[in-house]
Amino acid sequence: MNSHQLFDNHHRPINYLRLAVTDRCNLRCFYCMPEEGIKYLPKKELLTFEEMERLIVLMASMGISKVRLTGGEPFVRTDMMQLIRRIADIDGIKDVHLTTNGILTGPHIPELKSIGIASVNLSLDTLDRERFKAITRRDEFVKTWETFELLMKHGIRVKINTVVMDAKNIEDIIPLVELTKVYPVSVRFIEEMPFNGEGSHYASLTWTYKKIVEYITSHFPTLQKIQDPMSSTAYHYQVPGYTGTIGVIAAFSRTFCGTCNRIRVTAQGVLKTCLYDDGVLNIKQLFRDGSSDQEIRDVLLHAFSSRPKDGFEAEERRKNGAPVIESMSTIGG
Ligand code: SAM
Repeated sequence: MNSHQLFDNHHRPINYLRLAVTDRCNLRCFYCMPEEGIKYLPKKELLTFEEMERLIVLMASMGISKVRLTGGEPFVRTDMMQLIRRIADIDGIKDVHLTTNGILTGPHIPELKSIGIASVNLSLDTLDRERFKAITRRDEFVKTWETFELLMKHGIRVKINTVVMDAKNIEDIIPLVELTKVYPVSVRFIEEMPFNGEGSHYASLTWTYKKIVEYITSHFPTLQKIQDPMSSTAYHYQVPGYTGTIGVIAAFSRTFCGTCNRIRVTAQGVLKTCLYDDGVLNIKQLFRDGSSDQEIRDVLLHAFSSRPKDGFEAEERRKNGAPVIESMSTIGG
């Protein structure tokens, strides 16, 4: 059992790890990766399953109880289900979550259900096959939608992640809200961030969380603000009488840092204590240099006690003022 509580230097509890299991992806989403010229990490640069398991056992002993597996596309990694099973069995890990684009996920859904996956975040920016192709540069809408329906059929808790992109998918916002009429799903609209491997696409962001909420409200004047769960990054809403809910995530405006309970480990095995920092500790290197669990715990505690207070401070602290340009696929979105 996990009896530890972990706090950072701003008295925020830390209990949630997001682990990127690979930087590879079978889509090329416009907002995440350049179309060509991506240099994937050599396999030996990725954490092995054994290293991931060691990392999570160690972190669970410190107070981490929730893990999200992400990437890259998790199911592009060979034997992904084996990893999920191993992590679900770790003492102290209460919830295992997954973020996926759904293309390879379908056949694993019965097993995900049987091992008690806590929720699946499905990335889906549009309900239109042609726009899906334009945004992701792959014609895979049908598989993603089939996965959505299968997840619903198996009663798995689903959140849809939709990045709101100027001139790309604004016409999808209302149809996606309409999904919540019949499906018990949470559709989350996310501000686009500059993590696309190139840097910002915009001089300033048009589709801020405020504008997204205004836009939805103009179509659904009775939209209700509902209670946000603790440490949630989303502002939650519901159309009265609808089954599902809506979330709006100020990922670029960064309004939620005050209650941030999460840390990340990138596909390279580097710890990030904020999405906007550029990596604070190379855990993979420590593992491979032969550091003991206690030595690693000590440096982790040091990193947790030096956390920036918010994403703006983290951005300022980046080495040599380097701008945010890396791809979300290496960070683990
Ligand atoms: N391949 C998986 C998927 O598609 O869900 C997991 C990785 S993907 C990087 C995780 C999430 O990051 C996706 O929901 C995606 O929408 C989000 N994301 C990626 N780049 C982003 C960006 N530039 N701004 C906002 N969200 C982004």
